[in-house]
Amino acid sequence: MPQEDAPDPSHAAFDCFVQAQTCKDVLQSFSALCRLLDVDPQDHRCFYPKLKERLNYWKAKALWAKLDKRAAHPDYGQGQACVGNKCLVLGAGPCGLRTSIELALLGAKVVLLEKRETFSRNNVLHLWPYTIHDLRGLAAKKFYGRFCSGSLDHISIRQLQLILLKVVLLLGVEVHIGVEYKGLVEPQSNGKEITGWRAQLSPVDHPAGSFQFDVLISAGGGRFVPAGFRRKELRGKLAIGITANFINHHTATEAQVAEISGVARIYNQKFFQDLHTETGIDLENIVYYKDDTHYFVMTAKKKSLLNTGVLKQDHSNAETLLSPANVDQEALLRYAHDAAHFSTGRRLPHLEFACDHTGRPDVAVFDFTCMYRAENASMVRERRGKKLLVGLVGDCLVEPFWPLGTGVARGFLAAFDAAWMVRRWGLGANPVDVLAERESVYQLLSQTTPENTSKNYNAYSINPTTRYPNINLGSIKASQVTALWLIAMAM
Ligand code: FAD
Repeated sequence: MPQEDAPDPSHAAFDCFVQAQTCKDVLQSFSALCRLLDVDPQDHRCFYPKLKERLNYWKAKALWAKLDKRAAHPDYGQGQACVGNKCLVLGAGPCGLRTSIELALLGAKVVLLEKRETFSRNNVLHLWPYTIHDLRGLAAKKFYGRFCSGSLDHISIRQLQLILLKVVLLLGVEVHIGVEYKGLVEPQSNGKEITGWRAQLSPVDHPAGSFQFDVLISAGGGRFVPAGFRRKELRGKLAIGITANFINHHTATEAQVAEISGVARIYNQKFFQDLHTETGIDLENIVYYKDDTHYFVMTAKKKSLLNTGVLKQDHSNAETLLSPANVDQEALLRYAHDAAHFSTGRRLPHLEFACDHTGRPDVAVFDFTCMYRAENASMVRERRGKKLLVGLVGDCLVEPFWPLGTGVARGFLAAFDAAWMVRRWGLGANPVDVLAERESVYQLLSQTTPENTSKNYNAYSINPTTRYPNINLGSIKASQVTALWLIAMAM
């Protein structure tokens, strides 16, 4: 009888990596894979080709084919466009991860910091068609078989982060979790030489604190904007959102319940009237997606929250109104449960809350009356002759309007735009020209919709002209952005 070859442990490690379902498991299985194949993840230039060469496993071939196709795009200049650049990306949300992929493909050394230690957000993100196409091109389906099958156009934040984290690691990005960015450390002179820009971190003695970089990308989410950037407030009428996640047992009965991809009051008055009459719940809109969880997001009217006891007292200030002390948690759970129950025609049999990262029922109430956007997407800091390009992406650039699901769609557009900016920086363009072009592109972001962006998704690249029809890359002149180049005199 022919003797079977002993199983290759690196193949098993690769399988574990592909299937890993927590951030820690991804990182651990990745380290095991690197050890078994004797490839050094710190050696970012050679890491991916070496890994590919040493892992001779049929299951990995389709993945390499996808990543190779992407890496072969002329924009990346065969991974040489930013070969001399060192980039610090803060935040491993979807946008920080997506930007890191592009920077790695451009050939830059990329270090990514994430203050949390887990990926735990069940909430589900709506994806525009181009984002689905983009993620397929990054082999999303190899990591998550259920990715956008059939007509599905959404994914949980957690799953999206896991997919992107795996790609980021394969491309040689150095990832540190449980590390918080606290601010910049300016270049120092020790008499002989001048050190580069560094980051102040928590924990203070973390080795990434010695990384010197010339590009900082902030992707820290809505609440985190680095020093120096100003924000504009867009104030609408009071808008109170509620998100709720219920366990998906993946039964046949659950599978049959139809999703609600966005029922707004103006389109279905009767539905909202019946909901109000039967339950006292009064909503502006509701969305239901079936994903890892049964996920509901709704905009609730203040009066009904007061009448049902969810809000204990009325306050004109939204922050006080929705402060934990003013929210009756039990009543909130009932409200979310009843809204979910009614809107699915009472066909979801056991509506049991899924847990959040603290082990509590995953229900949240939030205010989106005010939304913020940064006034600028970029700046250059210069100190002791060392230049640092700083860019914002994701929610810290433009906060999304959740009911329209613009978070990841506009977030990825900004990730590509930021990568295009870094490419020009790497190719040695004058800083003010880099800034002027980035700000010209940024002017379009808040108006983008699936309709007014290019439908030729195959042609999408980091080059803004492939995505925004009729874009004028020179609409903002270098003379208009000189204030974004902050040169501090050495003391
Ligand atoms: P985020 O996803 O917020 O990621 C930012 C990351 O940066 C986080 O992981 C954070 O821990 C990390 N970070 C922040 N500061 C630092 C620092 N100083 N150092 C290191 N790391 C740092 N959108 C929807 O469309 N529907 C929803 O239901 C929905 N629910 C949401 C629920 C929550 C709790 C949050 C925070 C956001 C939600 N969003 C939702 C918005 C959506 O998640 C974002 O649009 C999308 O994730 C892209 O955001 P991002 O990558 O820019 O930021």
